[in-house]
Amino acid sequence: MTTSSKTQKRKKYVYFFGAGKADGKAEMKNLLGGKGANLAEMTNLGIPVPPGFTITTEVCTYYYQHNRTYPKELAKQVEEALARIEKIMGRKFGDPENPLLLSVRSGARRSMPGMMETVLNLGLTTQTIPGLIKRTQNERFAYDAYRRLLMMYADVVMEKAAGLEPEEGEGIRQKLEKAMERMKEQKGVRLDTELTAEDLKELCDEFKRIIQETLGKAFPDDPHEQLWGGIGAVFQSWMGKRAVAYRKIENIPEDWGTAVNVQAMVFGNTGERSATGVAFTRNPATGENTFYGEWLPNAQGEDVVAGIRTPNPVNKAGKTEDTQHLPSLEEAMPDLYRQLFKIQKKLETHYQDMQDIEFTIEDGKLWMLQTRTGKRNGQAAIRMAVEMAESKLISKETALLRVNPDQLDELLHPSVDPQAAKKAVELAKGLPAGPGGAVGRIVFTADEAEAWAKRGEKVILVRNETSPEDVHGMHAAQAILTAKGGMTSHAALVARGWGKCCIVGASELDIDAVAKVVRIKGKELHEGDWITLDGTRGRVYEGQLNLLPADPANNPWYMKLMKWADQFRKLRIRTNADRPEDAKTARAFGAEGIGLCRTEHMFFEADRIRSVREMILSETREERQRALAKLLPMQKGDFIGIFEAMEGLPVTIRLLDPPLHEFLPKTDAELEELAREMGVSFKDLKAKNESLHEFNPMLGHRGCRLGITYPEIYEMQVRAIMEAACELTQKKVKVLPEIMIPLVGHVNELEAMRRLTVETAQAVQKEMGVKVKYLVGTMIELPRACITSDEIAAQADFYSFGTNDLTQTVYGLSRDDAGRFLPYYQAHRILEEDPFITIDVQGVGALMKIAVDKGRKVKKDLKIGICGEHGGEPKSVAFCHKLNLDYVSCSPFRVPIARLAAAQAALTEKKPKKT
Ligand code: PEP
Ligand code: MG
Repeated sequence: MTTSSKTQKRKKYVYFFGAGKADGKAEMKNLLGGKGANLAEMTNLGIPVPPGFTITTEVCTYYYQHNRTYPKELAKQVEEALARIEKIMGRKFGDPENPLLLSVRSGARRSMPGMMETVLNLGLTTQTIPGLIKRTQNERFAYDAYRRLLMMYADVVMEKAAGLEPEEGEGIRQKLEKAMERMKEQKGVRLDTELTAEDLKELCDEFKRIIQETLGKAFPDDPHEQLWGGIGAVFQSWMGKRAVAYRKIENIPEDWGTAVNVQAMVFGNTGERSATGVAFTRNPATGENTFYGEWLPNAQGEDVVAGIRTPNPVNKAGKTEDTQHLPSLEEAMPDLYRQLFKIQKKLETHYQDMQDIEFTIEDGKLWMLQTRTGKRNGQAAIRMAVEMAESKLISKETALLRVNPDQLDELLHPSVDPQAAKKAVELAKGLPAGPGGAVGRIVFTADEAEAWAKRGEKVILVRNETSPEDVHGMHAAQAILTAKGGMTSHAALVARGWGKCCIVGASELDIDAVAKVVRIKGKELHEGDWITLDGTRGRVYEGQLNLLPADPANNPWYMKLMKWADQFRKLRIRTNADRPEDAKTARAFGAEGIGLCRTEHMFFEADRIRSVREMILSETREERQRALAKLLPMQKGDFIGIFEAMEGLPVTIRLLDPPLHEFLPKTDAELEELAREMGVSFKDLKAKNESLHEFNPMLGHRGCRLGITYPEIYEMQVRAIMEAACELTQKKVKVLPEIMIPLVGHVNELEAMRRLTVETAQAVQKEMGVKVKYLVGTMIELPRACITSDEIAAQADFYSFGTNDLTQTVYGLSRDDAGRFLPYYQAHRILEEDPFITIDVQGVGALMKIAVDKGRKVKKDLKIGICGEHGGEPKSVAFCHKLNLDYVSCSPFRVPIARLAAAQAALTEKKPKKT
């Protein structure tokens, strides 16, 4: 290998950018990471970017494959690139006279906000500090930069990257922060900015002492050692606990690796002509087409993002009731604001999507530090996509592909009832960082949030600010509330990405996470106390407030997007609903019929269960028929309700499916009461009850096996369906009943049940003197049904895949017990996905394909749908599209998701999705 590699062209590990020219470009995200690719692209666009270079993701992969070492060519390539930066900046790294300072930042292919490390101000040493002071004529600034470097470096490189895991509160960062608080107290000042150059100089010495004492090592006083320490820490952080946790949640593959960006430092904190900020080309919370952002004068970027100081709005348009009094950049530095405004427009037009940008103004010169596609919540994603398509920035197709179907869920989320809010005790105000309302119990740490949520508790994670270490708890919580931070703080970014309710910067909160108490307006709230968050308005309330259901029909952008989705999709969307109310909800969400009405749910209602039990425990056919006769009018009433709610649309009603013992009394007391009512002895009834026990009820006396052994049950149900249908037809209500037989494995089962259904339906029509068009079909939910689909199709007008049972039987995996070990399977990557959530394409999907192919061979127009839970899951919907099914059926609240997923499936089939 070594001999052949000698002859190969030198491998490029380092990509330079600066002074209007870059080696890379936006398309090179896989190699340069998102940040690196975009820095290159911005440079090429002529936008002012501090010069720098990107070390490729391949180096990260190499690093982990070679025992955490670098390719040998790397050092030389880094040196060469560094020399080019020095030339452009007219400064030298490590030069005591005129030192160049560098930043080192991570940058994966997909943004992982705050998950990995950044070190700023590298290159400051006892040798170079005097040079920096001389150049800037600002001693305070130099020591401020130095103390930041000391803190970041000790935390990121010397502690985290070294694999040290101190106790909560004992980390080097906290220790240094405490030292700084002590210093402020000593000097009698409140703000960091009030510390003088002398104070900071003293603080830096103290920092170095604490670092040596805590970590047993001195802070390196050599610029090159600092630089390589920073680079190594970024690569190390790819495998850090929080990055691993985040990748798991976001499904980011481990082998992608991160790139490292090394760049000349520019400073937003050299004085009053300097500033820094973060902005979005459109409002990321609402989607509104206004430039939106936050800035701080005389500050470094981390101050805005870390939420240590509450930032100002970037322009007048972004001011709210709460930020009215703060100065905007538009007012404070109008010329620079105009430049920034132009650049952001250029970036959005170039990338054809909303950008999240970072900028710094150093002594009156504007520098762009970053651009990336901005994270947004569902509401904003929809509005932006629709408005961009309407303004012809993107096509309708692109707009449809841009919204993640799961994001629609947010619009369908509940909000805090304004009436309840009026009467409630308002505890605090904060920034509205994540939409919707949430109710939960207070917890103070991410671990606790996760532990409580595992126990089934609804919790709200309350923190001063969140850090990437908290992501697991943020994910587990209903909502997140922080005392510090702005709209671009870590909590806000992460919550927005997930569409989770979140309030940040609620500065009235005084949180003591160790004592587990939060003090607000003279009140004390403890762990476990209930609060309600209105994430749309940024208000925190005491107790549990009523939440109102969502109202997507009044959202014009959502309605438009859904209309477009309907123009492109081929699949029809039905719903699984057993009650008229649910059917109505689903219809309002766009359902085009019912794909599954489970009749057993109707049997559980209080006034019916007695007759159901009587029917099951009857000894003779006559007794059974007597009990069924009592149920008939009730069932008929149910069907009338459902048919009316779905007037004009098909309604698939499935005949009784579950094992009968599910309906039986569980206790002796209940059995005794039933025996009295039925006039039979308790002993006999108990014996009968026990005789119905099954060892494996899921594979037992259920589905069509019930109809075959007790035909009078299905007969009653068919009669109820047809009487309801005939009655409504007489009243000119259009009904389209589809009667469905469950759990068919052999064609003879279906043949027998079809005969019974047709005979009963005909008898009813004759009795009532009405003709109603109806279909008889079957669920396909057993492997044998799939394999013998050519025989079964001859007896069926339609198929509906019951992928819940099909997954259970193909995998031999109990639906009721898999929850105990499937999470372990996923955590250990035995299975990437839960097959009960996403269709297992290779196994279950292969059988579905056999069923479709064989069935349609016999009956070309056989109508085929799916009604298992998978019918509302985007990837499974895409698979159903590929199989050429006629429809998917899902729960009412997933109908919009399925509509969009179906459109996306049709669109991606037409043209491969751009990456
Ligand atoms: C199925 O098995 O996929 C199905 C829809 O039926 P059920 O969940 O009621 O068994
Ligand atoms: Mg089933």
